[in-house]
Amino acid sequence: MIVILKNRPDPDQLEGLISWLNAQGVAVHPTVGASQTILGLVGDTSRIDMNLIAALDIVEAVKRVAEPYKNANRKFHPDDTVIRVGNAVIGGGNLTIIAGPCAVESEEQLMATAEAVKAAGADLLRGSAFKPGSSPYAFQGLGIEGIRLLLAAKEQYGLPVVSEIYDASQLPLFCDIDVLMVGAKNMQNYALLRALGRTEKPVILKRGFSNTREELLMSAEYILAGGNPNVILCERGIRTFDPSVPGTLDVAAVPLLKSLTHLPVIVDPSSAGGKYTYVPALARAGAAAGADGVMIEVHSDPAHAKCDGLQSLTPEKFAKTAASLRRIRQLISEEE
Ligand code: PEP
Ligand code: MN
Repeated sequence: MIVILKNRPDPDQLEGLISWLNAQGVAVHPTVGASQTILGLVGDTSRIDMNLIAALDIVEAVKRVAEPYKNANRKFHPDDTVIRVGNAVIGGGNLTIIAGPCAVESEEQLMATAEAVKAAGADLLRGSAFKPGSSPYAFQGLGIEGIRLLLAAKEQYGLPVVSEIYDASQLPLFCDIDVLMVGAKNMQNYALLRALGRTEKPVILKRGFSNTREELLMSAEYILAGGNPNVILCERGIRTFDPSVPGTLDVAAVPLLKSLTHLPVIVDPSSAGGKYTYVPALARAGAAAGADGVMIEVHSDPAHAKCDGLQSLTPEKFAKTAASLRRIRQLISEEE
């Protein structure tokens, strides 16, 4: 952290600032220029409130030079985090395909979709039992019955299962669910993130619609700092000035996040595109950008879906898309 002082700072205030910083365990290296003095702070500044320093009369500006996320930072953990669930390997250059309905709607829907995505080579099955809908009148999921159906599908088809959690009180219901998903709306639900940090479950943490890449990493930090190293970041489209799609898939976030963090980064082309016609292209963009995985909504009968039918692929379209994703990754690994 660097503190830029105003011209001719009051010596007493300056001394007060330096001893306060020293008391926080930070060494202070002043550089006195002809017109400006700057203080270089060395040590763990992650707990220091920049605004407290910026508010002082003698301070012109405060700048962070080190990233505030320590556990997620690739600088301190150069090797990729690789998460294993069942036979699936997430991270470390693999392309993991997660597929299934937005929400578990019925036994028939889930089983038919699970069978199809498994046959098309999906690595994990998704399906939410608890849906925090934007409208309280929309389908909210089957709840415990949805969890029971997911576990039955896991048993039948041997795919690990992913499901959304939005409240820490739901955790006991998820003990046999392999991967927990935190939806975009809950990226900054810190009580939930802290609770997930106390578990060992892999967590897919989705980026909020209007959150920066650094805010996503700071939310991951909540889970990691609690002692759970199994976090998967998910780019799912962000809100921009153009309303023609629900989310603009931030493809650049994939290589950028992967350079900043060792955590796996996956993309969700369904939530971004909002319509099935755009999903294959966005999925391919994610695979080509080096994502560690792609999560795609697939429904056995999209026209009659209770949730996100418009953005769901039919099993046939999913099979074609999945095959093209594998080909893209093969091509890229041959080039590299
Ligand atoms: C979903 O994956 O079904 C979902 C709700 O996505 P998001 O939280 O990204 O909107
Ligand atoms: Mn959905």
